Amino acid sequence: MTGMRAVQARRLGTGPTGLRIEDVPRPVPGAGEVLIRVHAVGANHLDLGALSGQGPGAAARLPLRVGIDPAGRIVAVGHGVEAERVGTRVVVKPNIPCGTCRWCLAGAEARCPRQEVVGVHRPGGAADLVVVPERNAVPIPAGLPAPVASAAVHAVPIALQMVRRAGEINPGEPVLVTGAAGAVGSALVQILAAAGARPIPVVRSAGHGPVRRGPGADSVGEAVTYDGLAGALTETAPDGVALAFDATGAAGPIAAAWDALGWAGRLVVCAATGDHPLEVDIRRLYLRRLQLIGSASADFGDVTEGLAMVAAGTVQVAVGPEFALEDAVAAYTALSDPHRDGKVLIHVAD
Ligand SMILES: [Zn+2]
Repeated sequence: MTGMRAVQARRLGTGPTGLRIEDVPRPVPGAGEVLIRVHAVGANHLDLGALSGQGPGAAARLPLRVGIDPAGRIVAVGHGVEAERVGTRVVVKPNIPCGTCRWCLAGAEARCPRQEVVGVHRPGGAADLVVVPERNAVPIPAGLPAPVASAAVHAVPIALQMVRRAGEINPGEPVLVTGAAGAVGSALVQILAAAGARPIPVVRSAGHGPVRRGPGADSVGEAVTYDGLAGALTETAPDGVALAFDATGAAGPIAAAWDALGWAGRLVVCAATGDHPLEVDIRRLYLRRLQLIGSASADFGDVTEGLAMVAAGTVQVAVGPEFALEDAVAAYTALSDPHRDGKVLIHVAD
């Protein structure tokens, strides 16, 4: 067999109309790379960004094989990779750091300025097979199903990296999480609860997706809407919160989180949706000793730790609807369903 099935972004446009399921040549692992037979891969907004030329997907050149977070089994290795890796279950860390800059050498790969992304800068894993650098094929902990690993490998390490960047977290202190119903937001709520904080989930509307609380549910505050935020804070944090995390990337929620900060408060932001600028009052920023922290991507250490937390049940990840590879276009359509609950997955093979 020389060919395989793949989901290809063919032409620019909004939504999944530019996606095609095509037969393409099988990839061959080069030096330092592994070949993975894909079990499952997520349908991500980033993939649609490659079609619409927006966000991190704007770096893509079409035609492009999409799929940033495949999970499966290594079936072949390239030169220089230990043959024992063949047969192991792995999930792909989407970001490939350069490996040589000062941040990479310090193990802070999330801050590497020369990262490439699987499914953006090189062929992705929405296909029967995918080739990635050996190190990006991260072992899946025993007992963790491949689809769950795929659903976790992007969002949970990003949340861990945000918490790491935020610095000190005091036991029992209220911490705001805007966009708490999404994948990164859910992970943040659960990681913060596990770290001893009291996360306050903020959601668009009461009926807009449940907030996942995980095993630390008792430490998680009542979910509040943006309209009800100021009122809720007068009770729980009248002097403002010391720490806030935004998982929406939208100016409105970020501004609400920024306004909720108390003395020496820190706000960590991990995404940008739309192009609305954020207005910051410089007097408030410096006089109140505030910090606005940008975070993106994750360290290899975040990926290992995040997968271990999911395998241990400390962080629960919701797997939503699954679609066959042939129905990949429907998977991307399901992404924008407001009633969807959990990560949309493409099931490639068992
Ligand atoms: Zn680097």
